[in-house]
Order: sequence, then structure tokens, then C-alpha cells
Amino acid sequence: MTSYKNADLHCHSVVSDGTLTPELLAARAHANGVDLWALTDHDEVGGQARALAAAQALGMAYLSGVEISVTFAGTTVHIVGLGFDPTNPQMVQGLAATRGGRNERARDMAEQLAAVGIAGAYEGALRYVGNPELVSRTHFARFLVETGVCRDTSEVFRKYLIEGKPGYVPHRWASLGDAVRWITQAGGVAVIAHPARYKFTANEEFALFSEFQQHGGRGVEVVTGSHSASEAARYADLARELGLAASRGSDFHSPDESHTDLGKLPPLPADLTPAWDLVAAHIHPGR
Ligand code: AMP
Ligand code: MN
Ligand code: MN
Ligand code: MN
Repeated sequence: MTSYKNADLHCHSVVSDGTLTPELLAARAHANGVDLWALTDHDEVGGQARALAAAQALGMAYLSGVEISVTFAGTTVHIVGLGFDPTNPQMVQGLAATRGGRNERARDMAEQLAAVGIAGAYEGALRYVGNPELVSRTHFARFLVETGVCRDTSEVFRKYLIEGKPGYVPHRWASLGDAVRWITQAGGVAVIAHPARYKFTANEEFALFSEFQQHGGRGVEVVTGSHSASEAARYADLARELGLAASRGSDFHSPDESHTDLGKLPPLPADLTPAWDLVAAHIHPGR
């Protein structure tokens, strides 16, 4: 089995809420020494063919990817899928249904923002959208930075876009079981994304991991752009305890916004099984 020293299996293009095209991401990953790459746009596989072609042109190994929005215990959880068939009809239909409510949600967000004095946010956010089916909070955040309401996107989230703030609109995403099944029946491995980011109690987190495994989920992101060293160590321990494979990904969105660049991550602990080993047959080899 080929061993990959610098896998980066989590990032976003203009097909969801990133600012770079799949081709520019591939070039940036390759320039940063990534030797196994996956593009994981939110709820969307429309960039997969371009990402694969760009990776192959650079001689970089590639795995298909997606990051599915899930509602679990009243909270949004993200499930990354790797190494599945991106043309699988159940997957394609499931993702289309998951994207379905985004536009209406965006209009509701704009209405709530207008009520606190921020006009034109729907049209403003749309100017940043690369995919009309995928207007996200990130696009609103970019508009609020552009118009000088906030200094940066994290301030926008803190003041306007998280639960309890004026622009937040609750939304029901896919179920955990559906997301894991779409991925696994299409031949891929399901991975819990950035587990330290969820505000779960210990009981809720235990329920997430056990239900995820019961549905057939087999991996967890241990090393990600949004984990500190101690959070990575904590989820490495949990992976050992539960027998989960480990994944690694920057969650890169934009050169201007992301703290962690493609491929600029600590290694996975050597004793863990890399998640990509579970879909080794589905890796498109590089050179
Ligand atoms: P949505 O799917 O429309 O709810 O948007 C979720 C996206 O918002 C995530 O994928 C991140 O890219 C971004 N996001 C969430 N929380 C924050 C935050 N605190 N600061 C910056 N970006 C965030
Ligand atoms: Mn995002
Ligand atoms: Mn995420
Ligand atoms: Mn992400």
C-alpha cells in the first residue's frame, strides 16, 4: 500500500463556500507538497470532475470528497465522505435534497438582518456565490466584511450568524443515518469532521459517535485546521478507543480567511489507521 505523508482531505472551492476554483486549489495543494488530495465541498459534488482532472494533470493522487451538513441533537454536524462514486444516484439525489432549503434560508437570514439595520444582504451575499444552489453563511459574512459592518468573517459569525444572533436561521439538514448511508453505499468512507467544534455534552458526543458507528461510519478527523494540538490528541485517543480510522485535512476555504493552508498540518499519529487506507482501491493514483 502506498503511504501518503501529506494527505489533505478537507477543503472548499467556489462550488461551495471557498474562494478558489478546483484548479487553483489543486495547484496550491500540489505546491504545498500535498501527495493525496480531496476536494470536500459542502453538500455538493459538482466540483469533483474538475478537481480530479486538475490533480491528475499535476500527478497528485486524488480521492473524491464531500462534506455533508447533518442535524444531530439539534446541532449541525458535518460528515466528510471520501472515496465514493460521485455519480452515484442516491448520493447525488440526497445532496440535492440537502441543498434544497438553502435559498429560502438565505432570504430569511436577509430579512432578519434587515430588521437590525443591514439592508440588501441577500443580493450582497449572492455576489460572492459561485453556485446558486449553495448560498451559505460564509457568503453573508463576506458581504458584511465588504460593507464594513465587521472587520473579518469570524467577527460576523460571532455577532450575527451563530445561534442567538440576529441573522441566525435554524435549519434542518440531512439525518446522520442518511448521510452515512449515502457515502457508504456509494463505496466511500464516512468521517466525523472537526469533532472538537461541536458544543456537545459528553453524553451527546458519545451518542453521536455510537450512532455514527451503528450507521456504518468508520472515521474521524483527528488532525484538522480547526483542532489545537490537545484537541487532536483527544480525538486520537477516542479513535483508538472506538476503533475508528483517522483523517487529516486543513478545511481550507480562502487565502484571506483560512488560518491553515493546504498541506500545512501536523502528521497523524503513526499508530492510527489512516481513513484513506479504508478506500485505498478508490484512490486515483498520482505519479
Ligand atoms: P452554512 O452551511 O451556510 O451554515 O455555513 C457553514 C460555514 O460557515 C462553515 O462551513 C464555515 O465555512 C463557516 N463558519 C462557521 N462558523 C464560522 C466561524 N465561527 N467563523 C468563520 N466561519 C465560520
Ligand atoms: Mn465552509
Ligand atoms: Mn465543516
Ligand atoms: Mn469544511
